[in-house]
Amino acid sequence: MLLALRQAVLERSGEKCEYCLYPEAFAFLSFEIEHVVAEKHGGSTTLDNLALSCPYCNHHKGTDLGSLDPETGQLTPFFNPRTQSWTDHFRLDGDLIAPLTPEGRGTVAILQFNHPDRVQERQRLIQAGEYPP
Ligand SMILES: [Zn+2]
Repeated sequence: MLLALRQAVLERSGEKCEYCLYPEAFAFLSFEIEHVVAEKHGGSTTLDNLALSCPYCNHHKGTDLGSLDPETGQLTPFFNPRTQSWTDHFRLDGDLIAPLTPEGRGTVAILQFNHPDRVQERQRLIQAGEYPP
């Protein structure tokens, strides 16, 4: 990937995961440039299809485009940070990320936003005044 493209994704993101909003500055592992629509599904390596992702979100999302809404069982795309607004689909509920929409529910479930380890890390950042960024 071109260094300039990587830099543009990083700057646009505010250096936080565009899925769970975790700030890269407090992460142990480097964040990754993620294809919102994976290349195997025809997604391009262009700014409008790339997002900054923490390794946890990126690992759990993989090349998936969506999942079954845990509430309705309907096939639903994941939250798309390029075309959708985070606050339309999620809200912070204490130290948990609560979904507001079917896309939000599938994303929270599959990307495991509220895994106990991640909630514990988020709690530390909230107490330090560093989350949400
Ligand atoms: Zn994340």
